[in-house]
Amino acid sequence: MSKKRIAVFPGSFDPITKGHQAILRKALPLFDEIIIAVGSNSAKQNLFSIAERLKQIQNVFKNELKVSVKSFEGLTVDFCKKHHSNFIIRGLRDGKDFEYEKSIAIMNNQIEKSVETVFFMTDSEYLAINSVIIRDILRNGGDASQFLPNELNDFLKGA
Ligand code: ADP
Repeated sequence: MSKKRIAVFPGSFDPITKGHQAILRKALPLFDEIIIAVGSNSAKQNLFSIAERLKQIQNVFKNELKVSVKSFEGLTVDFCKKHHSNFIIRGLRDGKDFEYEKSIAIMNNQIEKSVETVFFMTDSEYLAINSVIIRDILRNGGDASQFLPNELNDFLKGA
């Protein structure tokens, strides 16, 4: 039997957006299993707790049998090893994302040779979607629903 292809999609997902959702959909046909790994990014001020984000994401992907959601702390490559994953999924919007991601991807691969990062380009309609701005809209009582997965909007409304 061939080895299962397990990928980890790490991020802060605070909250998960249509941009993240589209990246996951692009990755799904390539892997047998995708673990969405929710971590806290020390450089970012969070809006939702990790527990809230786990619930939100579980709800968004409740019908995707290949997707599971876990929280993590520490190095992404250690999380990958623990869960027998050889792939990290990341999304790219622009050159800025690429510049940031490329060093992390190269260093992760140097730390752990068995782990490769796979990048997916965002769809043009999601190019401007950015969690920092969404958090700002939500904190100020604005409507960010057009940028969020429909399942998350329903979940936030308590539907
Ligand atoms: P992190 O704090 O690790 O950057 P994020 O939740 O902000 O976590 O992002 C997780 C991943 O999703 C990153 O690879 C990021 O570049 C990607 N991403 C974020 N927003 C979008 C978007 N609108 N389209 C495509 N990829 C995105």
